[in-house]
Amino acid sequence: MAITYHDIKYKLQPPLDCSEIKDLRGQHFHNRLITNYENTDFAGCVLLHCYPNGIPNSIEVNPAQSEKDVTLKGADLREANLSGAILEGAILEGAILEGAKLYGADLKGAKLEGANLSGADLEGADLSGATLQGADLIGAILERADLKGADLTEADLEGADLEGANLSIADLIGADLTGANLQKANLQNANLGGANLQKANLQGALVSDQSLTIYGAYYIGPNSNLQRAILSGADLQGADLREADLQGADLREADLEGADLKGANISFAVLSRETKYPKNFEELTGFNKIRKMCHLCMDVYDAEFVRGIEFYCEDCD
Ligand SMILES: [Zn+2]
Repeated sequence: MAITYHDIKYKLQPPLDCSEIKDLRGQHFHNRLITNYENTDFAGCVLLHCYPNGIPNSIEVNPAQSEKDVTLKGADLREANLSGAILEGAILEGAILEGAKLYGADLKGAKLEGANLSGADLEGADLSGATLQGADLIGAILERADLKGADLTEADLEGADLEGANLSIADLIGADLTGANLQKANLQNANLGGANLQKANLQGALVSDQSLTIYGAYYIGPNSNLQRAILSGADLQGADLREADLQGADLREADLEGADLKGANISFAVLSRETKYPKNFEELTGFNKIRKMCHLCMDVYDAEFVRGIEFYCEDCD
């Protein structure tokens, strides 16, 4: 029999049955379901996120709204063996699951915001639709895990193993994927805006569109989300970047000759004297502020794009 969320919840936090307890004065309870409390003295008791509410003489802090609302938020489950566990929709926000064995676990739609899953083994786990905002997944094993539509905004996936994982339509905005293994991962329609993909391995990764190519760790193609992407020195000659979002991208020394930037947004993209531009660059920059790197002091300053003018800041002018 696979472990369920109910098992963990009741093993870690069994209901506080007061039928045999007369006096609980001054005690402190957290995240507990309280039963048979009618004849018990709760004077001065602190009840943090407990249920039910309105227990006479107690001090209630952030009371739970229902039996279901008494959760495992912040529970300490480090190194726990939860392989194959059925944790669909489990509320484990901020839980400590460091080094936990969760391979093949069913975590569909689980709430894992801010959870610590560093070094956890989640091979083949079903995390589709799970919320993992800001979760710590450093070095986690997510090989062949199903993360379809998962919310991984600002999650830390540094060095995580995501080989063959399904990240289609996943939200990876601002996620740290430094050095992550994304070989053969499915990234179709995933949002990688502002994600850090430095030194990530994307060999054989599946992308949205045949016209997309991978440069370094970035998807280059129409509609690519390349906000704040580091593309310094990139060879992007003839790249199809129509409607691409290049806001704040680092294009110092990049070669964009012949690239199609129709409808692309290059606001605050950083350019250096060595950046090579396509023909229609002025038209695009007509609506956008760019940033230039002074080639003398290396300072970056806001500027209008003017072709042929030297890259000097006010101090070096
Ligand atoms: Zn300067």
